[in-house]
Amino acid sequence: MKVELNVNPIESWAKTNHKPLIIAGPCSAETPEQLMSTAKLLKDLGKVDVLRAGIWKPRTRPNAFEGSGEEGLKWLAEVKKELGIQIGTEVANPEHIELALKYGVDVLWVGARTTVSPFAIQEMADAMAGVKDKAVLIKNPTHPELGLWIGAFERFYRAGVRDLAAIHRGFSTIDKSKFRNVPTWSIPIELKRIAPQIPIICDPSHIGGKRDLIFEISQKAMDLGFDGLMIETHIDPDKAWSDADQQVTPERLGEILTDLKIRTQST
Ligand code: PEP
Ligand code: MN
Repeated sequence: MKVELNVNPIESWAKTNHKPLIIAGPCSAETPEQLMSTAKLLKDLGKVDVLRAGIWKPRTRPNAFEGSGEEGLKWLAEVKKELGIQIGTEVANPEHIELALKYGVDVLWVGARTTVSPFAIQEMADAMAGVKDKAVLIKNPTHPELGLWIGAFERFYRAGVRDLAAIHRGFSTIDKSKFRNVPTWSIPIELKRIAPQIPIICDPSHIGGKRDLIFEISQKAMDLGFDGLMIETHIDPDKAWSDADQQVTPERLGEILTDLKIRTQST
């Protein structure tokens, strides 16, 4: 497979120049207080590049918390204004994109359930046409189909988006596994081989599904030369309205980031 995408996102959207790029924040924006208190502690760590928070939540079944919607975007915008940190959220359709841009979201990511649909991706890519200085991160599809993942990059690229990166969040499986989504590292390694210009960020939270697995998955990603980490972080993880088992406190995130052995370019 040949992939010719001339992207160089980390240079252009990370205001810092250290690696790995760190994206952290709650699975969902729940209340203004929850978001601001988490964000302040993350900012204090001095190592977080982008605050993440889901505003529209793709829940498996109805009657679960489906996100705070546009209200949550106002809270995110407030955090950006007060703390001067870049903000990121998941978008799944053109309307989400329009609203995210309206409230100054810097980093838009496409969720795993959306990457599986070329129609949805094309509509979103069209909505990004002509938009400058925003990063689009694309999670792998829920199933291990590399072509579909690459197709999503190509669609955004053709629409003119150059700030692109991949997020590896593991793959659904019916086999028994200690992981919520099996990492099947050969897939992101293959992506790196055929499209080395696309940075890859690892999401150990959705791979592991349990907070105790986050360190080892993150270390593995660093050992494999991944470019960044997206780690779900909540002020009070056990009380989180979504993905409670896999979120860590900002304090624990600080320990994880300190303990990780990061491979440097020359080693
Ligand atoms: C998320 O990041 O909270 C999320 C829903 O992730 P994924 O698309 O990887 O399931
Ligand atoms: Mn989540």
